[in-house]
Amino acid sequence: MLIPDFTYYRPITLKEAIRLLEEKNDSVLMAGGTDLLVEIKKGLRNHENVISLSKIEVLKIISENDHEIFIGAGITHNELITSPIISANLPALADAASKIGSHQVRNTGTIGGNLCTAASCCDTAPILLALNARLEIADTTGVRTMPLKDFFVFNKKTILKKGEIVTRIIIPRLNEETGAHYEKFGLREAGSISVVSAAAMVKLHEGTVTDACIVIGAVAPQPKISYAATRLLKDKKVSDLFESSPVLDEIGEAAAGDSVPIDDIRGGAKYRRDILKVLTRRAIVKAIGFAETKRN
Ligand SMILES: Cc1cc2nc3c(=O)[nH]c(=O)nc-3n(C[C@H](O)[C@H](O)[C@H](O)COP(=O)(O)OP(=O)(O)OC[C@H]3O[C@@H](n4cnc5c(N)ncnc54)[C@H](O)[C@@H]3O)c2cc1C
Repeated sequence: MLIPDFTYYRPITLKEAIRLLEEKNDSVLMAGGTDLLVEIKKGLRNHENVISLSKIEVLKIISENDHEIFIGAGITHNELITSPIISANLPALADAASKIGSHQVRNTGTIGGNLCTAASCCDTAPILLALNARLEIADTTGVRTMPLKDFFVFNKKTILKKGEIVTRIIIPRLNEETGAHYEKFGLREAGSISVVSAAAMVKLHEGTVTDACIVIGAVAPQPKISYAATRLLKDKKVSDLFESSPVLDEIGEAAAGDSVPIDDIRGGAKYRRDILKVLTRRAIVKAIGFAETKRN
């Protein structure tokens, strides 16, 4: 099937993109187009006007200050993987990006597009939620920020309103003795979307988990924090959190209890819950490993 005709705009400033989005009828933003063009080609959506973000330089900047890391929404997955700022400060995010699709998809697909598509199986959201990320959103009235945890409404649905553009993802710097990790299970080693995923963030102090966040992906309409698993993990002794320990089993069960997986061609609901327990345990053990490495 051929892609239907549309008018294509390639603004070079954010202001111009916002204006076009506001003015043009039936307009849509395109970053890398790896989700949008596939959906248009399949006939799942159609738009008269497509506004590309690819020439807007401010969306392609990764920067940092003493407290936070700022990632432009137009940064591609491969740019995340190769960024010295991301490798030094948020290696778990670079690792999650490396698990996305193929090299070609990672070269074109962006972090902003990944979040705005809001597929329950998207690979950057779980780790960004675990890292307590916020989004910067711009429109004709100015710029606002909001927690990523309030962004997703349902599968492929966000709180974004017509005329709004996600401009940056803002992530607090990890404190000492804090580690994070993302685990993905797909049906192939590479190039497949998540059937189940889990992310963990842990902060340690004197052998105890003093703060944590567990996020589950592809097992609910949107990636979501498992508050039950997170509560259970807090205040636990690290010595009780070894692979297959009863405490970790209980936390894995809690994560599965917060999931509402579907049955589909890639896996049944029970299968997904069982995999989720394993991934949750693994993500926690690896996050603890990273936190301990930072202390040493
Ligand atoms: C073969 C293949 C394999 C894939 N594998 C994976 C995978 O393993 N894991 C995974 O998570 N995804 C995967 N994807 C999906 C896709 O590549 C990613 O979600 C990618 O990050 C989307 O980014 P994009 O820049 O291409 O988004 P686009 O397609 O350009 O846009 C997606 C949506 O987001 C909106 N949008 C984009 N940027 C903004 C912005 N800044 N502000 C507001 N709205 C915006 C667009 O309007 C559109 O609705 C795969 C896709 C393909 C084709």
